[in-house]
Amino acid sequence: MEKQEALYCIGCGSRIQTEDKTAPGFIPKSALAKQLTDENADIYCQRCFRLRHYNEITPVSIANDEFVSLLNEIGNHDALIINVIDIFDFNGSIIPGLHRFVGHNPVIVVGNKEDVLPRDVSRGKVRQWLFDQSHAQGLRPDETLLVSSRTGHNVDKLMALIDQYRLGRDVYVVGTTNVGKSTLINQIIQENMAIKDLITTSRFPGTTLDRIEIPFGDGHTLIDTPGIIHEHQIAHLLSPKDLNLIAPQKPLKPKTYQLNDNQTIFLGGLGRFDYIRGDRQGIIVYADDQLMLHRTKLENADAFYAKHVGELLVPPRAKDLADFPKLVRHEFSINTKTDIVFGGLGWITVAKAGIVAAYAPENVDVVVRKAII
Ligand code: GDP
Repeated sequence: MEKQEALYCIGCGSRIQTEDKTAPGFIPKSALAKQLTDENADIYCQRCFRLRHYNEITPVSIANDEFVSLLNEIGNHDALIINVIDIFDFNGSIIPGLHRFVGHNPVIVVGNKEDVLPRDVSRGKVRQWLFDQSHAQGLRPDETLLVSSRTGHNVDKLMALIDQYRLGRDVYVVGTTNVGKSTLINQIIQENMAIKDLITTSRFPGTTLDRIEIPFGDGHTLIDTPGIIHEHQIAHLLSPKDLNLIAPQKPLKPKTYQLNDNQTIFLGGLGRFDYIRGDRQGIIVYADDQLMLHRTKLENADAFYAKHVGELLVPPRAKDLADFPKLVRHEFSINTKTDIVFGGLGWITVAKAGIVAAYAPENVDVVVRKAII
């Protein structure tokens, strides 16, 4: 049944493949077999198929070098830039060098997944943190906004901001993979311009990917760009099933541990927190409910991890251990109420002074910030 010669998607021109769901040209084997039985049928990749039939886009990622040519296009264009960030993984959301490319173009930084923030988190503090972090990266956002692509919260505000800042120009939406950019674009399509036939696709120069353009009606468009792969994301270390396990879906419920010094908490097999020195205090863990937390004595922690990772401490699963990076230690001296943020996992709030260490898989960032609660 399978043909030998390469097949290309009639929609975007990507080479058809059945192996990698996140790469261009993907189509499930069974669907391809079905399309191939009809000699006259045009072959569409899954992404173009969904776009045509359900008016819905699915995420695709591209490699960094392709992204550079895309960034060049953005830099040479008088346009508004929307940079979508996952507020649970700021560092994994950073597009390296974005600030150099945007030039004088206005930028709106959109912090997505607001629905997962506990209700008592100050939204103002989170936005301030987004603003400060953006500045630390050299980006000078004109606005920051928290949205939930999932629930649609504040997507209307985003559209109002876009109207205010684009001033008759095109809009580029950029982001790394997994920040929720596709979900956001889908919300925008559903809420604002559910007109399938007006969505056009054309190639991004220098890339294998088509672009999604949503017309504003004045000859200008909102342009969805492919997601750039960021190697610092914990998402790349996990299977989609395990990712579901740790990617928070509901408002996070705090879990408080009364810790003495020399105690350790494991966040599954993905993170570790050592309370090294300081008075007994309540430390608060904000992570997905499904992620198992384990407390142990600091002096036993290394052996505990070695013994239980892949079984009691999951993810990672036992079968994934061979490729799983080791946990890397970051030590912090805490003076005021501080959040220790584990990229993509959540955070731990330490209220009182002390010396702590936080561990995350190699390449996954651990950063501190002023507590947001
Ligand atoms: P993309 O790679 O940036 O296009 O990201 P996707 O739109 O595919 O979303 C990545 C993951 O984040 C998926 O598991 C989504 O369900 C989830 N996600 C996206 N937006 C939100 C949101 O607003 N809230 C929550 N809780 N999850 C979201």
